[in-house]
Amino acid sequence: MSTQAAEERELAVVIGLEVHVQLETETKIFCGCSTDAVDAEPNTNVCPTCLGLPGALPVVNEAAVEAAVKVGKAIDADVPEETRFHRKNYYYPDLPKNFQITQYDEPICQNGSLSIEVGGERREIGIERAHLEEDPGSLQHVGGNIDTADYTLVDYNRAGIPLLEIVTKPDFRGADEVRGFLAKLEEVLEYLGVFDSGRDGSLRVDANVSLVDASEVDEDGSIDDAVLADANRTEVKNISSHKGAQKALSYEVTRQRNAIRRGRVVEQETRHWDETRGITVSMRSKEEEADYRYFREADLPPLRVAGWKSELSIPELPDARRERFREEYELSSEAADKLTSTKAVADFYEAVAEEFDPDLAATWVADNLLGELNYRDMTVTDVEDRLEEFRRLIELVDDEEITAKNAEEVVLRSMLDDGDDPETIVERDGLGKTDDDEVVAAVETAIEGNPEAVEDYHAGEEGALNFLVGQVMAATGGSADPGTVNGLLRERLDG
Ligand code: ADP
Ligand code: MG
Ligand code: ZN
Repeated sequence: MSTQAAEERELAVVIGLEVHVQLETETKIFCGCSTDAVDAEPNTNVCPTCLGLPGALPVVNEAAVEAAVKVGKAIDADVPEETRFHRKNYYYPDLPKNFQITQYDEPICQNGSLSIEVGGERREIGIERAHLEEDPGSLQHVGGNIDTADYTLVDYNRAGIPLLEIVTKPDFRGADEVRGFLAKLEEVLEYLGVFDSGRDGSLRVDANVSLVDASEVDEDGSIDDAVLADANRTEVKNISSHKGAQKALSYEVTRQRNAIRRGRVVEQETRHWDETRGITVSMRSKEEEADYRYFREADLPPLRVAGWKSELSIPELPDARRERFREEYELSSEAADKLTSTKAVADFYEAVAEEFDPDLAATWVADNLLGELNYRDMTVTDVEDRLEEFRRLIELVDDEEITAKNAEEVVLRSMLDDGDDPETIVERDGLGKTDDDEVVAAVETAIEGNPEAVEDYHAGEEGALNFLVGQVMAATGGSADPGTVNGLLRERLDG
């Protein structure tokens, strides 16, 4: 093909993901060591099994298997009656056994899917498989990078932490879709209670990228398997966030496009996403499956999970809950999105909506509470156990004991900052609505004390009235209703 022709070729982007997520369990996948790798001193959460000492035998953690089956249920995957573990052999200092226990041709989840919405369009992303495996340890290169470091430290606290590797079909047609998928996946996993996105390194993504002739894409968006197999692809490693994924993939797509434009072939290789430089760099030629010499893990019997998928229950998932919020509580899409952003927020909202009008509850949770929490770098989880206090705060406004403005700007803020309960704050700051006599007296005082403002008012200056309202509000500690004060003043001045 001439360079000219190459320039004119229209190309379609093809991306498939291998996503490693850390499953939230108390203990590791094949031993009883704690999974608390972050707070512990290096190499303290270890035992003969996760250190790979001779003779130590693995035992499967039921909680990890349950988590995987729940994910399978959420992505509508097939969970076979029996599943099996394999050894993936490679030598690297972070892998003390010189093999990783993983799953090969009989993974725990097969043929699932997850629907995403990108640019207002719904798309179904195929999930080929999801399998359980153990995390290796972590390496810390001191004084440089892997090539230049003075020495390298190894910490096996992470070795044996349960991972689920989720492999998608090559169904992504752009970096934005990948970002949307990862966000959605995290949301679903968090709803299931099997994942914590706040944990360092809990999501790691390898992305396979190729470009094919646009004419190969069928009308329904699918691409022939043979074309996909033939396309030269790169595998981009070291992606650890949605944002990182979008940047890395935009870069890699452009790099491949430019190569093709210049008439070069895209090498089939593994590339490393360098977050600080914002580029992908060639690491090595891609390993072939044969390099790993997979064979059955003879120390673990086949795992029978027949019936687990129907026996294990999972909570209502984000899409369904969003839809129900719109219908049942008649919320706007925007409010429903906000109120289902995490399971904790949705649960909190429903607990409030049980007692109050759904709209009022939505305003209080979505606008007031989430806004104030966000400002303080807090989440609903931090105030879950104060649901009753929060309900009483809304009750105070609902019963017209305090003004909405004071409730929001004084009481709620003080509840979050000082941890006091609403009644204590109302009492302490004298926020209870002032009785009428007191307001009338304050109106009188304001008029008597400010003859100039009264004169200005009679001369037609509206600003003068606002000034007097302000005087009364100040005198009553902000607890009078501004509308009432306004009316009382006019009555007195005009009469
Ligand atoms: P391998 O055996 O090389 O790991 P797999 O068939 O297991 O290959 O696929 C690994 C990942 O590569 C999957 O996420 C899949 O969606 C993706 N993939 C397959 N073909 C392509 C392609 N042509 N372009 C981009 N990604 C692809
Ligand atoms: Mg693979
Ligand atoms: Zn251990």
